[in-house]
Amino acid sequence: MKYLVLSHHHMDHAGGVRAFAAQGATIVTGKGTAEHFRRVLAAPFTRNPDLPSRDLKGTTIVEVTERQVFSDGTREVGAYVIDNPHSNGLMIGFVSDARIAYATDIWSPGAAPLPEKLTPPLAALEGR
Ligand SMILES: [Zn+2]
Repeated sequence: MKYLVLSHHHMDHAGGVRAFAAQGATIVTGKGTAEHFRRVLAAPFTRNPDLPSRDLKGTTIVEVTERQVFSDGTREVGAYVIDNPHSNGLMIGFVSDARIAYATDIWSPGAAPLPEKLTPPLAALEGR
């Protein structure tokens, strides 16, 4: 594993960041959130006795200001920062050749029918 791309800083989406950092992953975060994760990784390690204690302060954190594209030579996956009403620095994932986007906490397909009127979260996904 090389990278852990975090959609946003809320704990239900970033709770495992320390475990990935302990495995040597580069942490990829959205604009304005790297300092939060630096503080998280510098905090004392007290919660998971199954993981070896490590100093995670030196973890590489990449803060994406607009977009970052990752490639393994055959497939590209992009992480895009979008303005939205849910969280600062929120990113969505996009697999370009498959035309599949991955968004968290902005829209949950199937949870409810699409609203008659465009909501701020859906507008963020459309880039409005
Ligand atoms: Zn959230």
